Amino acid sequence: MQTNDFAGGANLPPAGWKRREQMEADERQALAPFAQKSGDSRGRKFPEPRHEYRTEFQRDRARIIHSRAFRRLEYKTQVFLNGTGDHLRTRLTHTCEVASVSRTIARALALNEDLAEAIALAHDLGHSPFGHSGEEMLAECMREHGGFEHNRQSLRVVELLERVYPAFPGLNLTFEVLAGLQKHAQATRPSLEAQIADLADEITYYSHDLDDALDFAILDGDQLDDSPIWQRSHERVAQRNPDLLGAELHKNIIRDIIDLQVRDVVATSAAAIAAAAPMSVQEARRQPEPLLHYSEELGAANRELRRFLYENVYYHPRVAEVNRRACEMLRTVFAAYVEKPEWLGDAAARRLESEGLHRTVCDYIAGMTDRYLLEEHARLVKSYVVNTT
Ligand code: MG
Repeated sequence: MQTNDFAGGANLPPAGWKRREQMEADERQALAPFAQKSGDSRGRKFPEPRHEYRTEFQRDRARIIHSRAFRRLEYKTQVFLNGTGDHLRTRLTHTCEVASVSRTIARALALNEDLAEAIALAHDLGHSPFGHSGEEMLAECMREHGGFEHNRQSLRVVELLERVYPAFPGLNLTFEVLAGLQKHAQATRPSLEAQIADLADEITYYSHDLDDALDFAILDGDQLDDSPIWQRSHERVAQRNPDLLGAELHKNIIRDIIDLQVRDVVATSAAAIAAAAPMSVQEARRQPEPLLHYSEELGAANRELRRFLYENVYYHPRVAEVNRRACEMLRTVFAAYVEKPEWLGDAAARRLESEGLHRTVCDYIAGMTDRYLLEEHARLVKSYVVNTT
């Protein structure tokens, strides 16, 4: 007789429950030959028994979402200093958008949605407080000590810095998710699922940085008239809804931009995949060019949009000035810990011996939320650890 009791690990799931083996068989049937199947995962650095009713990549997704680093994304700046506006993107809402777009593209191309989603959810875990300015400042502080780069830091978070499981450091994610987070130093191209997460990252930030810049009133719609991407969607929206104006018009243009970008990637990549006709994951990764990409036309328009964002948004005084001041605090806090490591948190202090002073300070600060760093700065000032003169 079947039973609900999983505790012993020896019982079968009750009738009507889907077992992992069945899910793996479903993937083999539904996904493309070049999709990464969870049943073919190379497993984990520290071997663990597989789960009764969750695939390997589903488990990875859950481990990432339940991590502390993931929760801290809520209070980390994307572009606009965290807390300056309730509708502005944070690192967390950005990550949710990347995951959502990744799932859409993966499903449309019969690739592994769970894998693409897990990579997307983890892709920014290594971001420092204060967005890209924070990253630059931390890299500057670490110039003589091995540098700092958020992609590499995301790997440190999931391989070392998260401490949940008694048996191993980090989250012990599958090799496939870890490989998807490795932006550099890979002998072959990333898996198609990792390529998806990468493009979804770009698609979301192009569109939401425009959206937030309009919302924050550092851009107005007229300035965007020279952008071919904006123009095209503006015309399409005006055709469908000629009465829309102001913020409502802008929201619908942004929606249309996302839709066009995703459609373009799906159509262009489907054609590239059909032409290359890879018959396995390995074959897809050995292609001379990535199989996931935009059409040439959209690629050029996106480069133009990126240039526009750099020129008009990322270094706008209302963005750059607050970020600059925040980054000065980051530099001060960094120097204070290097001088007085006894002010570090307990978990960080325990890593001093194995990781060295500067790397430990860097990990500790990179993990901070914007507001924690501001609080910590105030605490160090109050305690005369930091000199304000
Ligand atoms: Mg990102």
